[in-house]
Amino acid sequence: MIIVIKPNTSQEAIEEVIAGVAKLGYEPRPIYGIQQTVVAAIGDERTHHALESLMVLPQVEKVMRVQKRYKLVSRESHPEDTVIDVDGVLVGGDRFTVMAGPCSVEGEEQLLSTARAVKAAGATILRGGAYKPRTSPYEFQGLGKRGLELLALAKKETGLKIITEVLSERDVEHVSGMADILQIGARNAQNFQLLIEAARSGKPILLKRGLSQKIDEWLLSAEYILAHGNPNVMLCERGIRTFETYTRNTLDLSAVAVAKIESHLPVIVDPSQGAGRASLIHRLCRGAVAVGADGLIVEVHPNPAKALSDGQQQVDFASFETLMSELPPYLVPAGRHF
Ligand code: PEP
Ligand code: MN
Repeated sequence: MIIVIKPNTSQEAIEEVIAGVAKLGYEPRPIYGIQQTVVAAIGDERTHHALESLMVLPQVEKVMRVQKRYKLVSRESHPEDTVIDVDGVLVGGDRFTVMAGPCSVEGEEQLLSTARAVKAAGATILRGGAYKPRTSPYEFQGLGKRGLELLALAKKETGLKIITEVLSERDVEHVSGMADILQIGARNAQNFQLLIEAARSGKPILLKRGLSQKIDEWLLSAEYILAHGNPNVMLCERGIRTFETYTRNTLDLSAVAVAKIESHLPVIVDPSQGAGRASLIHRLCRGAVAVGADGLIVEVHPNPAKALSDGQQQVDFASFETLMSELPPYLVPAGRHF
């Protein structure tokens, strides 16, 4: 950390800052300039006490971090891309992995027909919410345990791996008994107790970015999971809240590029929550490939107009098949393959 002292501060007041830095466990190194003095504080900012508290001293102008707050998720600590083995399906490296399926599991025919269709089009992981985080308590909340049973059935029939959301700490045990990947939703991206509990399950985790989460906060959420012993985390950009109303959220593809630079973890793009409009999904998927994403999670429904949740953003089987067939020319220059 660097502590900048206000101009014309007395030596005695500078000494007070130096003493404060030492007291917090850092080695103080004052640098005296003609106009201004700064005190460099040597020590690990991630494990020592925060020096921001020195801002209460009237002679301190600002306190600046020099280290990033995340460690295990950073590319500095792990230069190679992490490749996650989801029970035989690889995510990361030169692979491009497509997860697809309905927003919510609604019934046997709906789920099984979708599983067959997305598999035939080339997806390797089936998505489907059994527990749904809905904005209104009167909206469809998911089939719960019955939804998990249907996902197990779809897995048995098709061999697709399963990703489904875990909404609360209470659900981690039984959801991880069935799912191959636990999805942590945008609304839970900073539910740290849930992150810790999900980490302990040992299952691969797809961590959505929070609706208004800054990139470093999203990476710090992932850091929670790694710090609790689970290295198998996929970051998922799913759009953030902005002033724009044409789209449901603003899919932040620049965050995908940043996450690929800053972290070794695979990054998955969710254009469905990102745009909230079926007509934009194909373009955003191509953009995701171009910007370096490691995969997609796309909502697909046999009849989007009749969906119990997120109908406006789900694509039908034919549209998904087209989407998949359009990707290879974009995968090649990105150095990826299915
Ligand atoms: C979803 O995937 O259907 C979902 C609710 O996602 P998010 O948490 O990104 O809103
Ligand atoms: Mn949805």
